[in-house]
Amino acid sequence: MANAFIKPLEKAAQAGRLPHLLIFHGGSGVERTKTALRLAQVLNCTAGAGDRPCQECVACRKVLSGNHPDVSVLKSAKASIGIEAILHWQEKIYRKHYEGMYKVFSLEEAERLTLPAANALLKVAEEPPERTVIILSAQNIEGILPTLRSRSQAIYFPPPSYEVWLTHLETLSSNALPEEAFRLSGGSAELAEKILGLGVSPVQTWVENYWAALEQRDFSQLFPLFPVEKVEALVFLEVLAVKLRNEDPKTHAVALLKIGKAIENIEHNATPRLALEVLAVQLFR
Ligand SMILES: [Zn+2]
Repeated sequence: MANAFIKPLEKAAQAGRLPHLLIFHGGSGVERTKTALRLAQVLNCTAGAGDRPCQECVACRKVLSGNHPDVSVLKSAKASIGIEAILHWQEKIYRKHYEGMYKVFSLEEAERLTLPAANALLKVAEEPPERTVIILSAQNIEGILPTLRSRSQAIYFPPPSYEVWLTHLETLSSNALPEEAFRLSGGSAELAEKILGLGVSPVQTWVENYWAALEQRDFSQLFPLFPVEKVEALVFLEVLAVKLRNEDPKTHAVALLKIGKAIENIEHNATPRLALEVLAVQLFR
C-alpha cells in the first residue's frame, strides 16, 4: 500500500512537517481513503520513528477500525456537501485533541462542496489549528475551488490498473462493459459507475461529437448536443477531461481548466446548456 507517491508525504509526516491542507486527487476513491488513513496512522502511531505505522499499537488499530477519536472520514450521502456539514466538522476541528498526537480529517468527494461550504473550509485553512491535517479527496482537482487549491498541497494518484479497478466494482451488473467504462473513466470507479448508469455508448458518442465539433469549429454540429440534464452534463464533461488528460495534460491545460470551471458552474446550478455553450465558445479560440 505504501506507493511511491506517498513516501515523501510519510517522511514529512514523520518529521512533523506536513502541510495543514492536502488534496488527494485522481486514482480511485478507495485508494485515496486508504492513503488518508495510513497517513493518520503514521501521525498517531506510538512506535519508533522508522517503524510507523506499526499496525499493532492501539492508535494504529483504532485508526484502522474507524474508532480513533481524532481521526474522521466524512462521506456525505447527499448530492452536495453543504455548509452545515462543514460547520459541524469545523467544531470538531477546533476541539482539543482527545488522545492522538494529530487530528486528521478526510473529506471524500470534495468536488461536491457547495461554495459556502468551500469558503468555510477556506477560513479553517487560513487559521489552521495545531497538529491538524485536513485532506480533501476528489477525482477531479478542477472541481475544487481555486482559492482552496492554492492553499493546499495537491497529491496526484495515478489511475489504478484494470485488475485493481475491477475489485472496486463488485456492485456492478455483469452485463456491463467494464473495460470500456474503465478506459472512459480514467480508472475512477465512481465515474465508471456513473458512465454505466447512462450507458457507455451514449457517453462515448456525446464526448466524441462535442470534441470533434470543437476541433472543426463547427457550431452547427454542437446544437444537437446541448439539450442535456445536469447529471448527464457532469458525466460528459468529466469524461471529456479524462480524454484530454490522457492525450496530454500539458497541451490541454487551458481546456482542462475551462472544463473544470464548467463542471463547477453546473454543480452550482448553472443551466447545463448555457455552461456547455460558454465552454464551446471558450474552447473555439
Ligand atoms: Zn502503530
